[in-house]
Amino acid sequence: MKVGAIIAAAGSGRRMKSDRPKQLLALHGTPIIVHTIRKFDACSAIDYIIVTAPKESLEEVTQLVKSAGFKKSVTVVEGGERRQDSVFMGLKHLQQGTDIIAVHDGVRPFVPIEDIENVVRHAQTSGAAILAVPIVETVKQAEKEFVQSTITREHLVLAQTPQVFRTAILKEAFDLAAKDEYYGTDESSLVERLGHPIAIVRGSERNIKITRPGDLTLARAFLEEEAAK
Ligand code: C5P
Repeated sequence: MKVGAIIAAAGSGRRMKSDRPKQLLALHGTPIIVHTIRKFDACSAIDYIIVTAPKESLEEVTQLVKSAGFKKSVTVVEGGERRQDSVFMGLKHLQQGTDIIAVHDGVRPFVPIEDIENVVRHAQTSGAAILAVPIVETVKQAEKEFVQSTITREHLVLAQTPQVFRTAILKEAFDLAAKDEYYGTDESSLVERLGHPIAIVRGSERNIKITRPGDLTLARAFLEEEAAK
């Protein structure tokens, strides 16, 4: 089975309060996006990689990829306005005969390689699978400044990436979303609208999404741990 990965890295990083997109910030001298691509380059379940980059950083990311010397084919393409637009742009560059697509956030460089393998394996049998972790906090439904209700934690998980799908299913989900002008914050939400079951595969707490300035402190600590292995 041919498996392609789309790594979404075309965001602007507004929440990082930085003038650079967060995926281009360096951790131990290497941009976050390069750390993320390395995980997929090293994963035996992945055949090739497509990276979406912001228009203004297209050249920079292309150069980064060239000088990183990855083993696999890594194609850098221009992303879109929202994450979903970026993934859609990535879908246009799939290699012929791609059976399975793994979509990943460029700002999740600590996904364990065995988790990528695991979620791809589940998607190969069930058609759709995502990584997720149980919630440890208590989650409230809020209305303005007031608590409306408490959502039972037993029924909640935090969705991560990679989110992995058979190509036909993901394309159908994108077609339906475009038709309905639906925008979701992940691919699973688009596939859910098809009514297709999506397997939940236990992920790792280390697979953080580097989003706010404080996340960089944790990211540096994780990187030191990985380097010490
Ligand atoms: O915006 P958010 O934090 O959900 O971004 C998750 C991932 O999607 C990031 O790696 C970001 O670079 C990417 N993204 C994208 N295109 C956008 C917005 C976000 O590829 N227009």
